[in-house]
Amino acid sequence: SACTLSPEGPPAPGELLALDRQHVWHPYGPMPGREAPLVVESASGVRLRLAEETQGRRELIDGMSSWWSAVHGYNHPVLNEAVREQLARMSHVMFGGLTHEPAVRLAKRLVDITPEGLEHVFLADSGSVSVEVALKMCLQYWRSVGRPEKRRLLTWRGGYHGDTWQPMSVCDPDGGMHDLWSGVLPRQVFADAPPAGFEAEPDEHYVRHLRELIARHADELAAVIVEPVVQGAGGMRFHSPAYVRALREACDEHGVLLVLDEIATGFGRTGALFAAEHAGITPDVLCLGKALTGGYLTMAATLCTARIAEGISQGPVPVLAHGPTFMGNPLAAAVADASVGLLLTQDWAGEVTRIEQGLREGLAETASLPGVREVRVLGAIGVVQLERPVDMAAATRAAVGEGVWLRPFRDMVYAMPPFVTGDEDLARICAAMHAAAARG
Ligand code: PMP
Repeated sequence: SACTLSPEGPPAPGELLALDRQHVWHPYGPMPGREAPLVVESASGVRLRLAEETQGRRELIDGMSSWWSAVHGYNHPVLNEAVREQLARMSHVMFGGLTHEPAVRLAKRLVDITPEGLEHVFLADSGSVSVEVALKMCLQYWRSVGRPEKRRLLTWRGGYHGDTWQPMSVCDPDGGMHDLWSGVLPRQVFADAPPAGFEAEPDEHYVRHLRELIARHADELAAVIVEPVVQGAGGMRFHSPAYVRALREACDEHGVLLVLDEIATGFGRTGALFAAEHAGITPDVLCLGKALTGGYLTMAATLCTARIAEGISQGPVPVLAHGPTFMGNPLAAAVADASVGLLLTQDWAGEVTRIEQGLREGLAETASLPGVREVRVLGAIGVVQLERPVDMAAATRAAVGEGVWLRPFRDMVYAMPPFVTGDEDLARICAAMHAAAARG
């Protein structure tokens, strides 16, 4: 091709962009690329350093935590040291027939801090795969105990569980993300989306709707899978923990397993260490990812109860037939253990409450902007809901002009800042959200 990187010296951002556009897929992007992504040179604390000045800015405050993950910020000395130490021992070894301290330590830590009753840990390499593993566990459990007809899944509308095959089948069927595959994906059972509002009084009609649907399909349902309390990529909506509790009760009553996808909500984001705690329940299977490694490396985890593990292990095929090459990766496990340890030794709940208050105060005036339907805040998550689809390019430009990195999408401008974001930076994130909502 005409475009190559010059052999000497650092490439000019323009050169990188030309090659990026020609060769590199981006999330939900076309080929060749249509957007001109910003080239990031380095990142430290809550700041992304750009390779070239953009709208007068060389540094941007990160309002996104790299999609919920970088809770401690970038280039953190404790996390850097954990990676460095592990790197000096080994970066990876296969997990078949071998084990190592980082994986065992992490697994034990996750069992200790997640809701009581979750005892076994599968260390997968991405959130979507951890959901695949969770669903596979549930289906295999029922096969193993002689109920192979229980292989459908129930979820509520408005959800998002990942981009691989089975997770796609439980994403919002009307959300547009996976419309292309409707009719090809396994047909699951969809309840209505939960009524909005974390603190809203639970709607009895809705609870009845959930219970009836589970009762009606119980004979064919392996599991219910939902995101508790916050539906993320499907629309950034919050709902009452009472609905999660109602699912637990209905699942118990009708012999259906409950999977909670806490890939986005886990590790403090909603104000509880895990969103399941708001509901006071233990799921049969729990998916974790994103903030698990503090955003350093790719790793996710699927936890399950003894009942599921025993069911599988006593079945006709007494193994869980899943084993990715990078399962239990020592570097990722070491930094995950350090990241969770760092979180727990800090007043994470205090920091999340501080950010929650900062977002509420900082976005108070945004709610009355023309074109804004509502502002909602829960924990370290702030959402400006517009009345129309956002102009992504214009909204992003408005935020960058304020020195902040945001990624508005659909009809929303939203932020989930790192927990270490200081008050001044948080105020700037709010100002950028305001500007993005006004101009996007
Ligand atoms: N479930 C939820 C709730 C998520 O937010 C995501 C990531 N957006 C996933 C699953 C998929 O995780 P990953 O992108 O790491 O595959």
